[in-house]
Parts: sequence; C-alpha cells; structure tokens
Amino acid sequence: MPSPTPGGDEGKSQSSTFRPQFSLPKSVYIHIPFCRHRCGYCNFTLVAGRDYLIDRFLNALEIEIGWLDKNYLIDTLFLGGGTPSHLNPQQLGRLAKIINSRFNWSSNAEITAECNPNDLDSDRLHALKDLRVNRISLGVQSLNKAKLKRLERDHCETDVRRAISHIKNCGFDVSLDMIFAAPQETLVQWKTDLNQAISLEPDHLSTYELTYEKGTQFWNRLNQGTLREAEEDLRAEMYSHTIDRLQQVDMNQYEVSSFSKTDKNCRHNLAYWQGDPFFAFGPGAARFVDGIRETNHRSTTHYLNLVHSGESPVADREHLPPEAAARERLAIGLRMIKGVDEVQFLKRTSHSVKSILRGLEQRLMDNQLLEHEDGHFRLTNRGIMLCDWIAGEIVNLSSKEPT
Ligand code: SF4
Repeated sequence: MPSPTPGGDEGKSQSSTFRPQFSLPKSVYIHIPFCRHRCGYCNFTLVAGRDYLIDRFLNALEIEIGWLDKNYLIDTLFLGGGTPSHLNPQQLGRLAKIINSRFNWSSNAEITAECNPNDLDSDRLHALKDLRVNRISLGVQSLNKAKLKRLERDHCETDVRRAISHIKNCGFDVSLDMIFAAPQETLVQWKTDLNQAISLEPDHLSTYELTYEKGTQFWNRLNQGTLREAEEDLRAEMYSHTIDRLQQVDMNQYEVSSFSKTDKNCRHNLAYWQGDPFFAFGPGAARFVDGIRETNHRSTTHYLNLVHSGESPVADREHLPPEAAARERLAIGLRMIKGVDEVQFLKRTSHSVKSILRGLEQRLMDNQLLEHEDGHFRLTNRGIMLCDWIAGEIVNLSSKEPT
C-alpha cells in the first residue's frame, strides 16, 4: 500500500517555521466486519450472514498488513467490528498469526476484542487468550429482555451473566457497552438496567445514547412514525443519572461516554482522543499516520476485491492544514474529562488553545460550558452534556473569524 508521507503540498503550513513532528504509531485498530445479523440501529461497516467471506477477508488482511514497511512495536490493539468473536477458534488463530507477523508488543500491551455475549464459549476464549487479548469489550447494551428485543439483539441476561463469569475466570478485564434512551424506555427502567450492569462488577463501562443513523432500519421506522425518539429532557436526565450513579460506585468518568475503575481506562481510546497516530486495517477502517488521515472503503466486498488485486483500499485521504488539524485535535480532546493540557497542545500543534478558540472561548465561558484551570481547558458538567455541539462549533471555526 502506498505509505503516506508528511509534507505534501496540500498540507503546507501557514507558518513557514513550524514542522510537525509525527511520532510512530503505537496503536492498531483492526476491523472485523462480520455479524450474525444486522441490528436495527446499527450503521457500522459489516456484512451479516455471509460467513463464507471470512477466509477471503483474512487473506486480504494478511496482504494489507504485509504492506507495512517494517515491524512495529505496539502498545494497544483494538479488534472491533462487526463482531470479532464471530470468528471461530481456527480463524482467530489465523488472525493471531497475521497480527504477529508485523507487530511486536510492549511489555504491558493492552489488547481488546469486542465480543458478543453469546459467542463466548471456552474454545473461543482460549483462542482470544492465544491472541494475547487481555481486555474484552462486551456488547451487552441491556439486561432487560424487552429492551434487548426492541434493540433486535439476540442474547439474553443469562448469556451475559454466563459470558462474564467465563471472561473473569480466564483473567480478562471486562468492559461493558450499554445503550440508554432506547424506544419506550423510561428513566426508572434505565436506572434498573444500569444497576444490573453495575452488579456485574465490570472494570469499565461505556454508555451510549441510542442514535438514529441514516440508512438504518431504525431511521426508516422513525421517519415512518413507527418508532419514537426519547424526548431531549429524558435523554439528558438519563445521562445525568448515569454520571451520578457511576460516581457513587467509584467508576471514574474519564471521557464523555466512558467510566472505569482506577487504572482501567481504555488506553487505545485515550490515544485516539489525545490525537496520537494509529494504524488501522480492514473495510471502513480509518488510520492517522504522519499527520494524514485515511479511510478504507466501507464496502467489505469492494475492500476485498481491491486488496486482492493489489490496489489500495483507501477511499479518502486527507492531510489537514495545521490549524484545521489543531481545531480537530481540540474538539476531540475536550471529550476527556481532564480536558486539554494547554502546554502540550501548543507543543504538538504550534497553536495555542486560545488562538484556536478565539471569540468562542468567551462565549463558552459566559455560558458556563468551558473552564480554564491548572493549565487545562475542560468542559464543565453542563458543557459535557453539549459536547457534540461544542465539538461542531470548534471544527467549523474559520481561521478568519474575528478574535
Ligand atoms: S452486533 Fe453490534 S456490530 Fe453487529 S449488527 Fe449488532 S450492533 Fe452492529
């Protein structure tokens, strides 16, 4: 694959002196695009019910990873999807060989696999262990039977409890994904669901508000009037309760949607929010290397055809000018509860946070959405509730905007 090189014309800095120093990626994302069926709310890159493509996909992955110029020392690996645990133990064994052919591991590498509760039999867990996985991100979403059915998930509470017991017996850290604001869900039901999740004693919890993405069945049903989105006030109450409740049980919120026990933050995601470089492979996978962001084609079959014929699977390639890159880094960095360290930010982008925010800084401060303390810019509790809107405002700031 043509490897991206820094300093292309399209990325020329407005400042003639600044030369961004890009470090080598220490993080890898691999997208496994297979699921048993497609859940109604899901718009991820995947194929459902087409397992006959898995071996061809593994061959393509071997080719794509083989295009790297050398072996790299890696600190975090995230196997996402789709559902990586949909691969059988032999296929997971093959995946391990492909990954180990190009990547060496730091002594305490964090290796995460997204899994479905009803995939985790002991053979698969052992195959994941052989792959050096030490952290399982379990797609629980709910422990309530009716809500799981509405979300079109094919597991039940018993599957979740069984999976967690196996995961813990095998010594993996466990992270749970939970969804709130599902169709017809009340605040009381979410409180019960969250308590059930807490009772499973995970190391890490990610909670996501259900969103209706264009192209999904849920989007169509919303537009046909057969599904109703939760009211804005209810969604805010659910999120606010989530923060308070998880704080009571010492699950520390370190990002807008992420909570963890001490020392159990997801280092892979932190690398992304901090603007660190990372490799990515597979259909729809997005990487950030040498200041260049690339995204592979989303169609799994198109990705397979391109890679098997020796062509680059990259669909989009973007080398942002330094100020736009700094705006984006700030918008993403503010997702972290600790906020953005202004000295580090200046060092890594050559722009101060103040010069990026310009007039927006005062507007956010006046509305108690942003605070500046101990050398960090961070969102207030109120700002966290509006984090997506604030990120949009920052990214869309023009360099010509008045100070
Ligand atoms: S299991 Fe996850 S990735 Fe697969 S279709 Fe459902 S939500 Fe999407």
